[in-house]
Amino acid sequence: MAEATRSPAPRRVNVSFSPPTPNGDLHLGHLSGPVLASDVCARSQKILGNDVVYACSTDDNQTYVVTTAQRLGVTPEALIQEALDSVRTSLDLAGVEVDLFERPDAHYTEFVRDFFTHLWKHGAFDRREVDLPYDAGTGEYRAEAFVTGRCPTCLAHARAGVCEACGLYNLPGALLPSDTATALPTRPVSIWVLDLERYRSMLTNWYRSSDVELRPDLHKVVTRTLEGRLPYIPITYPGTWGIPVDWDGPDAPPQTVNAWPEIYVGHLYWPQRVRARGRAGCDEFVQFIGIDNGFYNAFVYLALKLLAVRHGLPVELPVTRTLTNQYFLLEGRKFSTSKGDVVWAREYLEKAGRDRARFVLSLGSPELQQSEFSEQVAVNTLRDRFDTPLATIADTLGERLSGRSVDAPPSAWWATAIEASVRRFEAAYDLEGFSIRKAAEALALHLEALALRAGQVRTDDASDVSGALLFLWTLRTLAWPVTPDLAAAVGEAFGAGPVGVPLLRDATVPPAGAFGALVV
Ligand SMILES: [Zn+2]
Repeated sequence: MAEATRSPAPRRVNVSFSPPTPNGDLHLGHLSGPVLASDVCARSQKILGNDVVYACSTDDNQTYVVTTAQRLGVTPEALIQEALDSVRTSLDLAGVEVDLFERPDAHYTEFVRDFFTHLWKHGAFDRREVDLPYDAGTGEYRAEAFVTGRCPTCLAHARAGVCEACGLYNLPGALLPSDTATALPTRPVSIWVLDLERYRSMLTNWYRSSDVELRPDLHKVVTRTLEGRLPYIPITYPGTWGIPVDWDGPDAPPQTVNAWPEIYVGHLYWPQRVRARGRAGCDEFVQFIGIDNGFYNAFVYLALKLLAVRHGLPVELPVTRTLTNQYFLLEGRKFSTSKGDVVWAREYLEKAGRDRARFVLSLGSPELQQSEFSEQVAVNTLRDRFDTPLATIADTLGERLSGRSVDAPPSAWWATAIEASVRRFEAAYDLEGFSIRKAAEALALHLEALALRAGQVRTDDASDVSGALLFLWTLRTLAWPVTPDLAAAVGEAFGAGPVGVPLLRDATVPPAGAFGALVV
């Protein structure tokens, strides 16, 4: 009997976003894409009562760090530390409540090295000779961020590795040189690779048996990549930037772990560090990434995960959801940190305010296709869909319903409205069709409906009054993932102090206190 009434243990959900390369602060493209979406997701999983760990780190071992430091004339270490501090400040300003945001340290480095060395020992990787651009002046091979050219698949300007435009992978040396005259000559070198073709059946079996739906862009990357021979991915590069491995013996030229595959191991490491304090493991992993990370997630991280399990590493196979986003355009142009063509997240957050920035960026988030950021459009949207209805609600309810309580069942109109809005928010927060655009749209309509109706509430009708107040009260929970400050203000309007995480199952339980005033 006791068994039947005991509620099941909360689902353990790990949430993360692509680790930002520490070569600068977050810009609006980062914020409107993976960062804000992952925070709204983590918060919405919390209001569902789940056990959530939300962790991320910087991506220090990317070669972008070195190229940016060279351009700015600073040391990579100084650049990383400054970026870490700036990103932390921006996350804080944005109300992005990560449990952990760290940079790789010695313990992490050891963990990553052990992971790859274990797979290498079990024969998971192949040694292969590749042609890499070679700078005879410095005696260094060039890879990844050091190499730019034209994508051999879509002809967009791209860096070696994954093309940001089409999301597909270009093999080492395959990029078409933009300028043949200045292109470095290539030179053969032996590296260790993950030959995905070797694991084709393992990967296709996984996709065949998985019932997790992919967003259309990622689906395209998967099907297009599977159409041809699967590429091999460098697991090591010659060089010294990154995590060194000595698989070819102490006398071989130095090699480091490719920073892209390394990200997968970070996904294991950082949440574990938080979970070490609580329940280990997770049932579901939700990862928010730009489409340029789609290929690595869909193939490389999946292969590494399955190989880790095959070769006896303590890796779980949680339900994994990879939610990609497209790009934010700035007045028609792509954000570019290196060209200085950006709106910085911090600048915008300071100007717009936390909730307003979160609302308008969620509403226009480039979830499924590119979307445009225009400061003027954002100003108009905020005025029409956030500030004006909120001011109307605060003024009208303050004038007419101050001192009243939810002390009767809501009228039929309000009961229907409450049910409809709760359903809309639930659909937006459901991992199956998760969407911050839908969540912000649900909020905008909730505010619009309340603003329009507030002036018509019959103050002599307890069910009409109770309905209006209860409709407002539900925002304390429903709006908490998108606009946490508004949610808190709604709680305070009814004299409810800070409660930590409000729970969705209690969203329509009437507040204990009377309505005073909504201060927004
Ligand atoms: Zn391309």
